[in-house]
Amino acid sequence: MSTATFEFQVEARQLLQLMIHSVYSNKDVFLRELVSNASDALDKLRLEKLRDDALDADVSDLHIEIDVDKDARTLTVRDNGIGMSYDEVGQLIGTIANSGTATFLKELQEAKDAAGAEGLIGQFGVGFYAGFMVADEVTLVTRRAGESRGTRWTSRGEGTYTLEPVDDAPQGTSVTLHLKPADPANQLHDYTSPWKIREIIKRYSDFITWPIRMVPEGAAAADGTGDEEVPPAPETLNSTKALWARPRDEVSEDEYHELYKHIGHDWRDPLETIRLQAEGTFEYQALLFLPAHAPHDLFTRDVKRGVQLYVKRVFIMDDCEALLPPYLRFVKGVVDAADLSLNVSREILQQDRHIEMMRRRLTKKVLSTVKDMMAKDQDRYATFWREFGAVLKEGLVTDTENSDALLAIASFASTHHDTEPTTLKQYVERMKDGQEDIYYLTGESRQSIENSPHMEAFRDRGIEVLLLTDAVDEVWVDAVGEYEGKKLRSVAKGRIDLDAGDDGTDDAEKEKKEKREKQTEEFAGLLGWMTEQLDEDIKEVRLSSRLTASPACIVSDANDLTPALENMYRAMGQ
Ligand code: ADP
Ligand code: MG
Repeated sequence: MSTATFEFQVEARQLLQLMIHSVYSNKDVFLRELVSNASDALDKLRLEKLRDDALDADVSDLHIEIDVDKDARTLTVRDNGIGMSYDEVGQLIGTIANSGTATFLKELQEAKDAAGAEGLIGQFGVGFYAGFMVADEVTLVTRRAGESRGTRWTSRGEGTYTLEPVDDAPQGTSVTLHLKPADPANQLHDYTSPWKIREIIKRYSDFITWPIRMVPEGAAAADGTGDEEVPPAPETLNSTKALWARPRDEVSEDEYHELYKHIGHDWRDPLETIRLQAEGTFEYQALLFLPAHAPHDLFTRDVKRGVQLYVKRVFIMDDCEALLPPYLRFVKGVVDAADLSLNVSREILQQDRHIEMMRRRLTKKVLSTVKDMMAKDQDRYATFWREFGAVLKEGLVTDTENSDALLAIASFASTHHDTEPTTLKQYVERMKDGQEDIYYLTGESRQSIENSPHMEAFRDRGIEVLLLTDAVDEVWVDAVGEYEGKKLRSVAKGRIDLDAGDDGTDDAEKEKKEKREKQTEEFAGLLGWMTEQLDEDIKEVRLSSRLTASPACIVSDANDLTPALENMYRAMGQ
């Protein structure tokens, strides 16, 4: 096999172009991305070796190394981690697996300003490609631990890359950037300056637990000559201590945020950082983050859970679904447990009693954090609920233990205000005298609900109605049924007698009742005829007090499925 040329997948090529003509103003972060990948590769190797002692790999001095060469204008980030096979390099570096890519690229093209584009880029794992912000050519040499042959990958980021087998590659991966000329006016700094490298690592990668070493310039050359000159010792640039194991007041908000970006593959700051320390028979530390934005794939099957499991500082697994319920799948973070076996599997975790207790505790902690946020910082809470409310409402269906806590932090669009959502508590406080139920209507959009004839009588009488537009709304309202003794009632279901509770006199009541009976009698013939005509489609035609302007509307029985719900269940194959 010799050098072969390949084309990038279309989406990958588009992203590369974006990187090269960078929409991202802070170019320093390319180093963070390369170090992040190197750190992951070291985690993976340590784990693989733990699980398979026979693996032919050296794990005695796992570390990351940064070399700069001023004359050649190169910067190399090297790790002695898991590495990649020939096939993996093409798959992992040449394509983008994420299903949200197409949507993302479209939004990116539509983003009007650079800040918007920057924000969008941030939610995407463009990690490795970030190198092309500062380099006009990137070479990656890698050898997968346990394999004998390595691979060299090279690209100028212009649509193609080459792959070539190499015989003498060391275990792990090195990425060499051929740097563009420095251009400080465009945030393109001199990345061959050790001072600059130190600064970037301190700022963005200090929390990495593997040593990040820099070989002072000239050391490599001195080494090469092999004579008396002793090469200067490499310098370790980071403090290598896990953030969650450090005293809380020693860690700055920025440091937490950088850890979030590393594990969350997000370029933006999180909305909230949550720390939890459990002592006693089952000790663990948790550091969780609420992102500021929902990922594109939140409602798809292939969405990744965000919590990593560590055992005594050793990375065990990504995407650990046993640690939080599905409706908190957007939460990112780390849980480090002291008393689990390093060999623990997903299956074992699912059944472990301690893990179950941990999940309950973490769940409550997340919900109470949102509650605090609601009390202390309305804007942040509003952002959170806008991004994740639809997912949290799934919890109202699946997690009865926490349904009160969930109802307390939920908010909904309502006829009370055009843009500001309401909590159930606020709704109840505004309820009219004699109003016993909480009214809602589900639909596709606020507008379509407000146009519904079902709303007329409520609007006329000034009764507030919750406007529910998420698919899950149809389900949770039935599952929950009531809030503080008040029934949740759809304005489109069953008989609703809005006048029953009016504080009119008995006489007025009586009069109304007589009037309705008279009308019913009067229209009996018509109603009977209509019922007969529409027999195939409906159960009954009856006289209504809920309409004021529209001549007729369709009402479901209180126990019938609404059309939207029927569709949802059908889609689920039920
Ligand atoms: P992400 O880190 O979000 O997965 P990247 O673009 O940073 O996305 O990297 C893509 C993939 O390439 C990684 O998931 C990993 O499988 C592989 N990769 C990148 N750098 C390395 C490395 N130094 N060692 C081993 N694999 C790597
Ligand atoms: Mg990465």
